[in-house]
Amino acid sequence: MSFVPSTYLALPASGGCQCGAVRYEISEAPVDANYCHCRMCQRALGAPFGAFATVKREHFRFSEGEPAYFASSSVARRGFCGKCGTPLTFEYTASKHISFTIGSFDEPDSITPASHIGCESQVSWLHILDDLPKDTTPFGAGTPTEGMDSYQSKL
Ligand SMILES: [Zn+2]
Ligand SMILES: [Zn+2]
Repeated sequence: MSFVPSTYLALPASGGCQCGAVRYEISEAPVDANYCHCRMCQRALGAPFGAFATVKREHFRFSEGEPAYFASSSVARRGFCGKCGTPLTFEYTASKHISFTIGSFDEPDSITPASHIGCESQVSWLHILDDLPKDTTPFGAGTPTEGMDSYQSKL
Protein backbone atom coordinates (compact mmCIF):
# COMPACT_ATOMS: atom_id res chain seq x y z
CA MET A 1 0.00 0.00 0.00
CA SER A 2 1.15 3.48 -0.73
CA PHE A 3 -0.36 5.03 2.37
CA VAL A 4 2.04 6.92 4.63
CA PRO A 5 0.51 7.90 7.98
CA SER A 6 0.49 11.59 8.64
CA THR A 7 3.21 12.76 10.98
CA TYR A 8 0.51 14.75 12.76
CA LEU A 9 -1.29 11.63 13.99
CA ALA A 10 -0.84 11.35 17.76
CA LEU A 11 -1.35 7.88 19.20
CA PRO A 12 -3.50 6.67 20.69
CA ALA A 13 -6.00 8.46 18.49
CA SER A 14 -9.64 8.68 19.42
CA GLY A 15 -12.95 9.41 17.85
CA GLY A 16 -16.65 8.98 18.27
CA CYS A 17 -20.15 9.90 17.24
CA GLN A 18 -21.87 13.25 17.35
CA CYS A 19 -23.71 12.65 20.65
CA GLY A 20 -20.81 10.92 22.44
CA ALA A 21 -22.57 7.62 23.18
CA VAL A 22 -20.02 5.68 21.13
CA ARG A 23 -16.29 6.38 21.43
CA TYR A 24 -13.34 4.48 20.02
CA GLU A 25 -9.60 4.51 20.34
CA ILE A 26 -6.88 3.23 18.01
CA SER A 27 -3.46 2.35 19.35
CA GLU A 28 -1.50 2.15 16.10
CA ALA A 29 -1.48 4.21 12.93
CA PRO A 30 -3.90 3.25 10.15
CA VAL A 31 -2.52 0.90 7.50
CA ASP A 32 -4.54 2.60 4.76
CA ALA A 33 -6.88 5.51 4.19
CA ASN A 34 -9.02 6.29 1.18
CA TYR A 35 -11.96 8.08 -0.28
CA CYS A 36 -14.81 5.81 -1.37
CA HIS A 37 -17.28 7.02 -3.96
CA CYS A 38 -19.23 3.77 -4.24
CA ARG A 39 -23.00 3.84 -4.28
CA MET A 40 -23.23 1.92 -1.01
CA CYS A 41 -21.06 4.43 0.85
CA GLN A 42 -23.04 7.29 -0.66
CA ARG A 43 -26.25 5.78 0.73
CA ALA A 44 -24.82 4.72 4.07
CA LEU A 45 -23.28 8.12 4.75
CA GLY A 46 -25.89 10.29 3.04
CA ALA A 47 -22.94 12.01 1.42
CA PRO A 48 -21.37 12.18 -2.06
CA PHE A 49 -18.40 10.14 -0.87
CA GLY A 50 -16.83 8.66 2.23
CA ALA A 51 -13.36 8.92 3.69
CA PHE A 52 -12.10 5.98 5.75
CA ALA A 53 -9.03 5.04 7.77
CA THR A 54 -8.34 1.32 8.04
CA VAL A 55 -6.73 -0.27 11.07
CA LYS A 56 -6.00 -3.81 12.23
CA ARG A 57 -8.73 -5.15 14.50
CA GLU A 58 -6.32 -5.71 17.39
CA HIS A 59 -5.40 -2.03 17.28
CA PHE A 60 -8.80 -0.60 18.17
CA ARG A 61 -11.31 -0.76 20.99
CA PHE A 62 -14.59 0.90 21.82
CA SER A 63 -13.93 3.03 24.89
CA GLU A 64 -17.58 4.05 25.29
CA GLY A 65 -20.70 2.25 24.12
CA GLU A 66 -21.01 0.05 21.04
CA PRO A 67 -22.34 0.85 17.58
CA ALA A 68 -25.53 -0.49 16.11
CA TYR A 69 -24.95 -2.34 12.83
CA PHE A 70 -26.50 -2.63 9.41
CA ALA A 71 -25.37 -5.54 7.25
CA SER A 72 -25.12 -3.73 3.92
CA SER A 73 -24.33 -6.99 2.17
CA SER A 74 -23.72 -10.64 2.93
CA VAL A 75 -20.01 -9.90 3.44
CA ALA A 76 -19.90 -6.55 5.25
CA ARG A 77 -21.51 -4.50 7.96
CA ARG A 78 -21.56 -0.82 8.87
CA GLY A 79 -21.53 0.47 12.42
CA PHE A 80 -23.32 3.65 13.47
CA CYS A 81 -24.45 5.27 16.70
CA GLY A 82 -27.88 3.92 17.59
CA LYS A 83 -28.73 7.19 19.35
CA CYS A 84 -27.56 9.91 16.97
CA GLY A 85 -26.97 7.98 13.73
CA THR A 86 -23.36 9.00 13.08
CA PRO A 87 -21.73 6.51 10.65
CA LEU A 88 -18.62 5.13 12.35
CA THR A 89 -17.30 1.90 10.84
CA PHE A 90 -17.19 -0.30 7.77
CA GLU A 91 -15.92 -3.85 7.97
CA TYR A 92 -15.83 -6.95 5.86
CA THR A 93 -16.94 -9.53 8.41
CA ALA A 94 -14.13 -11.93 7.44
CA SER A 95 -11.42 -9.26 7.41
CA LYS A 96 -8.64 -8.71 9.93
CA HIS A 97 -9.16 -4.98 9.41
CA ILE A 98 -11.84 -2.44 10.24
CA SER A 99 -12.34 1.01 8.73
CA PHE A 100 -13.43 4.15 10.55
CA THR A 101 -14.98 7.24 9.02
CA ILE A 102 -12.26 9.86 9.08
CA GLY A 103 -14.82 12.52 9.92
CA SER A 104 -15.59 10.77 13.22
CA PHE A 105 -11.99 11.05 14.45
CA ASP A 106 -11.35 13.77 17.02
CA GLU A 107 -8.63 15.07 14.72
CA PRO A 108 -9.77 14.27 11.18
CA ASP A 109 -7.09 16.48 9.71
CA SER A 110 -4.44 14.06 10.99
CA ILE A 111 -5.31 11.25 8.54
CA THR A 112 -4.81 11.89 4.85
CA PRO A 113 -6.49 9.60 2.28
CA ALA A 114 -4.06 8.02 -0.18
CA SER A 115 -6.40 6.87 -2.96
CA HIS A 116 -9.90 6.99 -4.41
CA ILE A 117 -12.02 3.85 -4.82
CA GLY A 118 -15.55 3.23 -6.07
CA CYS A 119 -14.94 5.83 -8.77
CA GLU A 120 -17.59 4.28 -11.04
CA SER A 121 -20.18 6.07 -8.87
CA GLN A 122 -18.39 9.38 -8.39
CA VAL A 123 -20.87 12.23 -8.77
CA SER A 124 -20.18 14.29 -11.87
CA TRP A 125 -20.21 17.62 -10.05
CA LEU A 126 -17.37 16.62 -7.76
CA HIS A 127 -14.10 17.79 -9.27
CA ILE A 128 -11.08 16.02 -7.86
CA LEU A 129 -7.91 17.98 -8.32
CA ASP A 130 -5.47 15.61 -6.64
CA ASP A 131 -3.44 13.01 -8.54
CA LEU A 132 -4.06 10.12 -6.13
CA PRO A 133 -4.65 6.63 -7.58
CA LYS A 134 -8.25 6.04 -8.67
CA ASP A 135 -9.96 2.66 -8.81
CA THR A 136 -13.40 1.12 -9.15
CA THR A 137 -15.24 -1.50 -7.16
CA PRO A 138 -17.29 -4.29 -8.77
CA PHE A 139 -20.15 -3.83 -6.31
CA GLY A 140 -20.23 -0.05 -6.19
CA ALA A 141 -23.68 0.19 -7.67
CA GLY A 142 -25.03 -2.15 -5.03
CA THR A 143 -25.59 -4.94 -7.49
CA PRO A 144 -24.93 -8.47 -6.28
CA THR A 145 -21.70 -10.00 -7.52
CA GLU A 146 -20.18 -13.43 -7.25
CA GLY A 147 -20.20 -14.51 -3.62
CA MET A 148 -21.94 -11.39 -2.37
CA ASP A 149 -25.59 -10.47 -1.87
CA SER A 150 -26.41 -6.79 -1.52
CA TYR A 151 -28.91 -5.83 1.20
CA GLN A 152 -29.10 -2.27 -0.03
CA SER A 153 -32.51 -1.09 -1.20
CA LYS A 154 -32.86 -1.25 -4.98
CA LEU A 155 -34.78 2.01 -4.95
ZN1 LIG B 1 -24.17 9.18 19.02
ZN1 LIG C 1 -17.75 2.48 -0.62
